[in-house]
Amino acid sequence: MKHDHYDVIVVGGGHAGVEAAAIAARMGAKVALVTMKLSTIGAMSCNPAIGGLGKGHLVREVDALDGLMGRVADAAGIQFRLLNRRKGPAVQGPRLQADRVIFRDRMQAELRSVNDLDLVEGEVADLIEEGGRITGVILGEGQKLSAHSVILTTGTFLRGVLHFGGETRPGGRMGDNASTRLADRMDSFGLTMGRLKTGTPARLDGKTIDWERLESQPGDEDPVMLSFLNTAPEARQIACGITHTNAQAHDIIRENLSRSAMYSGNISGTGPRYCPSIEDKVVRFADKESHQVFLEPEGLTTDTVYPNGISTSLPVEVQNDFIRSMKGLKQVRIEQPGYAIEYDYVDPRALTRNLELRDVPGLYLAGQINGTTGYEEAAAQGCVAGRAAAAAALGFEAPEFSRSTSYIGVMVDDLITRGVTEPYRMFTSRAEFRLSLRADNADQRLTSQGREIGCVGDERWQAFSEKMERLEAGRIMLSQSKYPVSALIGVGANLNPERPAKTGLEALSLPEVDFSVLAELDPSLQEIDPRVGEQIKREAIYSAYLDRQERDAQTIAKDESRRLPHDLDYGTIPGLSSELRFKLERHRPASVGEAARIEGMTAAGLLLLINTSRRIA
Ligand code: FAD
Repeated sequence: MKHDHYDVIVVGGGHAGVEAAAIAARMGAKVALVTMKLSTIGAMSCNPAIGGLGKGHLVREVDALDGLMGRVADAAGIQFRLLNRRKGPAVQGPRLQADRVIFRDRMQAELRSVNDLDLVEGEVADLIEEGGRITGVILGEGQKLSAHSVILTTGTFLRGVLHFGGETRPGGRMGDNASTRLADRMDSFGLTMGRLKTGTPARLDGKTIDWERLESQPGDEDPVMLSFLNTAPEARQIACGITHTNAQAHDIIRENLSRSAMYSGNISGTGPRYCPSIEDKVVRFADKESHQVFLEPEGLTTDTVYPNGISTSLPVEVQNDFIRSMKGLKQVRIEQPGYAIEYDYVDPRALTRNLELRDVPGLYLAGQINGTTGYEEAAAQGCVAGRAAAAAALGFEAPEFSRSTSYIGVMVDDLITRGVTEPYRMFTSRAEFRLSLRADNADQRLTSQGREIGCVGDERWQAFSEKMERLEAGRIMLSQSKYPVSALIGVGANLNPERPAKTGLEALSLPEVDFSVLAELDPSLQEIDPRVGEQIKREAIYSAYLDRQERDAQTIAKDESRRLPHDLDYGTIPGLSSELRFKLERHRPASVGEAARIEGMTAAGLLLLINTSRRIA
């Protein structure tokens, strides 16, 4: 340890902790990251994948702030897939499967290269409180470290209990101790705490899988990177296998439900509805005869395979039986059984927008401790808390993230105003401004602001500035070029031949006209980098929708006090998703404003309610 006083101390080296420590140090704060085992910094507790729908947006925003997750994940990526490729860019989610070892090693190397960041191995057992403020931490052996602010990112470790069938034992995750002394300390603040649970599947020995019998799923031919700084994968790319559960597997699971920790009443915490265990799936979707299971290799130098879709807390012998009943897995060997974990979280409504505890100044919380689930959600919160804690120590205030400019802002607002009733994960449907909050423009939304507060380094800033110049030059060229309508009709555009010629920018707003098509019509456009051209195309498509989004936001704000009848039959509102219908029936909000505060409510859902209420008024 180089110092005994720091600007910021971060407790925990998971996905929230590494981003919090790195962003604070990038801003010029003197930082210590204290974690139980230095060797597990950057460990992925569950699936070896980063990104996806909503989550990919968060990674891009972390990257736009010059964070680590996107770059490290790209370096470790062994299969890249852009989810929702056929849908519009606003709901596309870049995702990759990572080599666990490369991810962990790269993350550790990145952290070691950060100036003014000390990595300290140890358990934080207590916090120092002076004059009503948290001013440091006390390690297990009694050593004290003082700081302007402390950020807790202890994940699932607060009073963590692991469940394997009927067997339980304390633990932060498999192979790690729980954090019990710190949990006792948190009790002393009188915060509202809750209990949540999550689970993970067994890990399989890939040498014992009959891959020949399985369908193969390769990655995308044109991989989309998570970081704005990267253009192509570094690691060798692999394919995954696909198998399915079947009637026999479901029978085995049903017969043993009473032995599942999730179902036997041993676990009181609430689990993630969006990421159900296989026991949940078999019970909740009883009419489904099979569920898809992706067999994802965990890396290039290991035979371990992660069976995505069958997280479980059944006893080990039952896991063995149902897994072996599936195609290609008859001889499979389980390397590590699946298990569930139950842990304490802090009701995030006790936090400010900077993720500082309102009643415990100097103490910030980020990651799973706030009731979220997922690496990406944790990393994004790490950026919020790290940025704010560093700014406070350095004597200025960091601007807050807002719902209209980032998914990070959506998440923070959801957490601190609505709290959580189940582990919170990001979805594009949570963002009412999702047409403008796209993964492709996260840098345009956040990098300049990050540069102003000092968290964006020179290399990123230069790359970003050059990109902005190329975009501007491209927009000017396209706004000055003209295309007769007949030429556009010739490439498939659905236009009235009588209309006047269109500029390149106008032509790109037509669904049938891609940048490559335009560049074929007009070779002078080949001066524009095709990636810049594609970005301008995305902006052109959305410019019309953005006006509508703005009008919708105004309608919702205007109709906030509109009453909703108590006996409103939500089942008869066409277009309302079953999830929202379920929540509205449960809460029966008295007004549009109350409906807006229901967790997971969307702008589209609110507009349906406003229209229905107008119709029946
Ligand atoms: P973590 O990554 O858990 O990191 C916490 C860190 O804090 C660790 O480094 C730990 O050593 C350190 N620490 C704890 N207490 C102390 C202390 N007192 N002193 C010093 N250091 C301490 N997410 C999904 O999206 N999908 C899933 O299916 C899923 N399943 C999961 C299954 C399991 C069994 C587990 C354990 C997690 C699962 N997750 C899943 C969640 C995902 O792993 C987390 O959301 C994410 O890792 C949270 O990041 P974090 O930084 O908040 O905490």
